[in-house]
Amino acid sequence: MSTGWMPGLPAPTRDDLNTCVQCGLCLPSCPTFRITGLETSSPRGRIAAMRAVQAGEATVTGDFTRFTDECLACRACEAACPSSVPYGRLIEAARVQTEAARPAPERLMRRAGIAGIMGHRRMVRLAGAGLAVAQALRLDRLLPRHLRLATPRVTLRGMRMALPATSGEGPTAMLLTGCVMDIAFRPVHRATIDALVRAGYRAVVPGAGGCCGALAAHAGELDSARALARARIAELESADVIVVDSAGCSAHMRTYGHLLADDPAWATRAQAVAAAVRDAVEIDAPPGRPVDGRVAVHDACHHLHAQGIGAEVRRTLRAAGATCVDLGDGGRCCGAGGIYNVLEPEIAEDLGAQKAHAIIATGAPVVAVANPGCAIQIRNHLRALGSDIDVRHPLEIVD
Ligand code: SF4
Ligand code: SF4
Repeated sequence: MSTGWMPGLPAPTRDDLNTCVQCGLCLPSCPTFRITGLETSSPRGRIAAMRAVQAGEATVTGDFTRFTDECLACRACEAACPSSVPYGRLIEAARVQTEAARPAPERLMRRAGIAGIMGHRRMVRLAGAGLAVAQALRLDRLLPRHLRLATPRVTLRGMRMALPATSGEGPTAMLLTGCVMDIAFRPVHRATIDALVRAGYRAVVPGAGGCCGALAAHAGELDSARALARARIAELESADVIVVDSAGCSAHMRTYGHLLADDPAWATRAQAVAAAVRDAVEIDAPPGRPVDGRVAVHDACHHLHAQGIGAEVRRTLRAAGATCVDLGDGGRCCGAGGIYNVLEPEIAEDLGAQKAHAIIATGAPVVAVANPGCAIQIRNHLRALGSDIDVRHPLEIVD
């Protein structure tokens, strides 16, 4: 493998890399740097590694792959950076490079999981049904610990929970049904539909549905991410607003314009869909029921750092009468990071345990979590510590 970026593929641009002045102000906010203390696990170190590849002094394999794999893509560094370094864009482009450079068997394995299963709704539902049966028979106990901690709780009954095709009157709000949300979090979809109706929308659940491509983009699988984006655009573009009740998916769909900018047939449609996306907590709906008591609030990175959403979760809960309790951990990542907890279990386990301890310390009986990956990670780490604190999407809590 020659040094420099692999030709013909997206790569971090010189202009983006040059925005970093190497000041290091982002280091305290980086969860992987805080755990390892290594410069190479910091945003500044990763950008320096990208610059070395850009300068033709290093390859995209070996250490470079390890440095980028260890990044959670949580974008806490982006929020802390005074120079507005577009770190999310840099790491996503770097991952396209490292994915393409992996040995063929490893690439095929990753592709089979991400594009082969997550990219096809039928496969997702089949995998969900298999997991539900395995969990009912308690066979999941045989999984290695890090996979158990990364696995959602799925039941056949939950997977079959009916969602009305159309509800309410008003401007059309179409719901992204998604992949993991569709098999493990249908009650969140139900609560979102109820909130849309209360807010005066005609809520529509599209017939086919499927993944938005966030997991594929996160893992550097650009072709799959683009194919899934096109499918969702075609499905959802007729709506007045597109409502997404998973923070990771709403953050990703807001980048569709950038993702398909080079595709003349889709670029304009992608921009229009990105502009129509609303995270479910941005719907200004009156609460469906009063909530009495304390609710701990976990801010998903894809809310806080990628979309600047934080106040909306608290406004939703307070409108129902809840007392919101912040975690006091500076909004640190919980370690889920797409499938980070599967691929980088050691750092993910440290972060998951820290998050669970922070939630337990609030004394609240319920924690509001607006992202499925975070909800799975947090629930499983709470249970591992013997805690039965309820983990719910904010809209479920007020429904
Ligand atoms: S990413 Fe921003 S905060 Fe971090 S070293 Fe570069 S300029 Fe400084
Ligand atoms: S995205 Fe998160 S883990 Fe990656 S460098 Fe930035 S702060 Fe660190």
